[in-house]
Amino acid sequence: MECLYLVIPCYNEEAVLPETGKRLTEKLHTLIRDGKVSGQSRIAFVDDGSKDRTWALIEELHAHDGLVQGIRLSRNEGHQNALLAGLMTVKDQADITVTLDADLQDDIDAIDGFLEKRGEGCDVVYGVRNSRASDTVFKRKTAVCFYRLMQTLGVDIVYNHADYRLMSRRAVEALSRFREVNLFLRGIVPLIGFRSDTVPYERHERFAGQSKYPLHKMLAFAWEGVTSFSVKPIRLIAATGAIIFSVSILMLLYFLFLFLQGKTVAGWTSIVISIWAIGGLQILSTGIIGEYIGKIYLEAKGRPQYLIDQYLQ
Ligand code: UDP
Ligand code: MG
Repeated sequence: MECLYLVIPCYNEEAVLPETGKRLTEKLHTLIRDGKVSGQSRIAFVDDGSKDRTWALIEELHAHDGLVQGIRLSRNEGHQNALLAGLMTVKDQADITVTLDADLQDDIDAIDGFLEKRGEGCDVVYGVRNSRASDTVFKRKTAVCFYRLMQTLGVDIVYNHADYRLMSRRAVEALSRFREVNLFLRGIVPLIGFRSDTVPYERHERFAGQSKYPLHKMLAFAWEGVTSFSVKPIRLIAATGAIIFSVSILMLLYFLFLFLQGKTVAGWTSIVISIWAIGGLQILSTGIIGEYIGKIYLEAKGRPQYLIDQYLQ
């Protein structure tokens, strides 16, 4: 029987943690009792530098039930880094891991489906929402745009899959070999390969607390996904440059023709406009290229992505 670790990132989740702790321990006890996972299985809550009582609640859950572990990051590193921190911390004990959000919007009974697929030999199982009825219209629309954009830019991500997934030990080992600082797990996990499958589930509303993903974080996340995985924006700029260059040659011929006719002053407007247009484009290009150089810079520094403050086990 395999040992399962549930990894749950928590950022200011005091409103949901007591209930989440209760539901998850019940679920894991049932799975152990039914002989689906080994008795060594655990629930690892990762406190992502919360400013409320999240850590105190995790300590309480840990004291009440031996199944609960707590990992406390030294500061807020964001959802993706908190997930990575949790996975890397438990990877030597866990045969399989399942990552899920603290608000239990993802149906925890889908874990049975995950385990079945695991039994069939999958190393990665993606939880996929079969409806987005519980999301706001705005969130649904922006999500669709996001998947479309990623597809157009050639980034391979699983449609309607958030970070609710099962990974085997070797998949997590493989993930640990991706040394990127700009972390976008949904883009990296499909790159790992191995056998994978999807399990559909119903997504609920948050039963308490607020979303920790306001618009600016969502936009930052999408931007991260695009710039960490795709070089198409750079290619687009190169293509635009080529087109503009061709057009400027045609314009040159046109102005030469006007010059030969002795009407040069008439061309002043178009020249000034083209100077402005090209100047603007150059600045934009420099900005986007700078974005990539910024990423190289961060990778070259090799900063640790997380530092663990405490590990209760
Ligand atoms: N989260 C985190 N660090 C952050 C922001 C969020 O660990 O800086 C966690 C949060 O506690 C939750 C998960 O990431 O468990 C997803 O966040 P949320 O439910 O707010 O996102 P939404 O479901 O609204 O997209
Ligand atoms: Mg949520």
